[in-house]
Amino acid sequence: MSVPDIDDKIPLPAAFLDDMKSLFADESEYEAFLKSYEDSPAAGVRLNPWKGSREELLIMLDDIFSGDGTALRSTVPKKPPLFSPVPWEPNGFYYEPVIRPGKHPFHEMGLYYIQEPSAMSAVPLLDPQPGERILDLCAAPGGKTTQIAGRMCLLTQIPGKMRQCGLLVSNEIHPARAKILSQNVERMGLSNVLVTNETPERLSARFPAYFDRILVDAPCSGEGMFRKNPEARLEWSSGEVTACADRQRHLLDLAASMLRPGGRIVYSTCTFSKAEDEDVAETFLAGHKVFHSCEYTRFFPHRQRGEGHFVAVLEHNQAERDSRPSVRLPVSDYSCDSVQYLNDSTVSNSDGLSVCRSAELPEYGVGYKIAAEKSTRFAQSENRSPEFPPLKDRQVLKIWEEFSRTVFAPEAAALFPRERLLLFGEQLYLAPEYCPKLDKLKILRPGLHLGTLQKGRLVPSHALALFLKPADVRHRLLLPLADERVARYFAGDVINCENEQGWTLVCVEGFSAGWGKASGGVVKNHYPKALRKKF
Ligand code: SAM
Repeated sequence: MSVPDIDDKIPLPAAFLDDMKSLFADESEYEAFLKSYEDSPAAGVRLNPWKGSREELLIMLDDIFSGDGTALRSTVPKKPPLFSPVPWEPNGFYYEPVIRPGKHPFHEMGLYYIQEPSAMSAVPLLDPQPGERILDLCAAPGGKTTQIAGRMCLLTQIPGKMRQCGLLVSNEIHPARAKILSQNVERMGLSNVLVTNETPERLSARFPAYFDRILVDAPCSGEGMFRKNPEARLEWSSGEVTACADRQRHLLDLAASMLRPGGRIVYSTCTFSKAEDEDVAETFLAGHKVFHSCEYTRFFPHRQRGEGHFVAVLEHNQAERDSRPSVRLPVSDYSCDSVQYLNDSTVSNSDGLSVCRSAELPEYGVGYKIAAEKSTRFAQSENRSPEFPPLKDRQVLKIWEEFSRTVFAPEAAALFPRERLLLFGEQLYLAPEYCPKLDKLKILRPGLHLGTLQKGRLVPSHALALFLKPADVRHRLLLPLADERVARYFAGDVINCENEQGWTLVCVEGFSAGWGKASGGVVKNHYPKALRKKF
């Protein structure tokens, strides 16, 4: 069979094809693999559980993108369904290429993250739990970090109220990529993420036996992306495969030193190369006898709908973890994780959205855990790490209290425990639960950025706006998507309002978009200049 000419200009490397031939037991499978290069890559979005339940977001997106809803622009015929479930990630959906979810205000508001469907497979296998300490070692641009953070959201006993529990250290070695990672963490409204720009070596020296789970989504030769990004074929060589495998072994050794007894490492790549994937995992296991492998999972474009991916689950043998009280937040057994989801034929069949709508999904949507009352109280009383010094500056505390009193609804004050406030120069942050000491680490985002101190006042940050829900604030401007003020707000214009005064959360379809400052019937635009765009 001839090699497909999907991209004549950039052929698939011959040595790569030889490797692939030896990977498949029979010739017909190799041919099916080659044929998959004639298909278009699958496109996926992952809904953000912090923003809303799966069914709420899905129904709204389908209405809007199909033109049934209050669309800003797009009007696409409704059949077939525009979104259909990704079987291995409850919040993941394939979308039809006719729609452009990346070009919509909802993308800027963090309602979803555009992520390659196969790449959604590693985090369900990492299985992060609310209240744990997690490390994402190679995290930019942030697909898997934002997916992990979604799984750390916990529903509290107050109906509809969630908390982002535990600590996620999200690291990226390259400064420019770390900045993009930080922006994506902000866009998704996350509060419990520490974004670092460190070498894995320095992190391992700093965090021995510290994390419950570690994701090593390693830099790799990228063979699985040859269909989606044909340019990746140009960078490929056998030497590059060997160099990547060596680097991956090194990263796994460092990850092992940062894992607590009984913890889990997930090692993933977007390559097919056995020299990188299985061989690296096997070398790791041979050198670390206290680990065992639970499973290796491979994604091939001719077997699943998605690009190439590899995931290995490597678990530390010790069954009982040490008993540090701040982590291992016990939650009730209720959960709909990916395994249950896959087994649920009413949801995982191919009818897509209509099935999701009619299926009896739990009240709060798939993918959440519901906290037992006791454990929520436990977590709240223990959520400050003893390593972390409380903010003592009385002037700053007074400014924050004045801001909270005038801007937040009374119940929302509990979202910002005073003992987790953190000042970096003029920037005020809310540190994540169990935040470690931050000195001598290169940190881009130490939790939730609350705002900037200016002339004795706090100017709230965009990150705070995207974290908040409309009910959390005293003043909000609720706009339907079809309102002409939406486009003007994102473009940076002043917009009209009625009775609002002072800091006002501008919301679209009930989701926060950014800040404005209201006075005399107009809202002065505080949407960040760098993010302004025309829709
Ligand atoms: N997990 C990310 C996501 O889901 O969006 C994708 C990570 S990408 C496959 C691998 C990352 O590792 C890249 O951002 C790359 O800059 C970073 N990297 C490259 N060399 C590294 C090294 N020596 N140590 C750690 N990370 C490295």
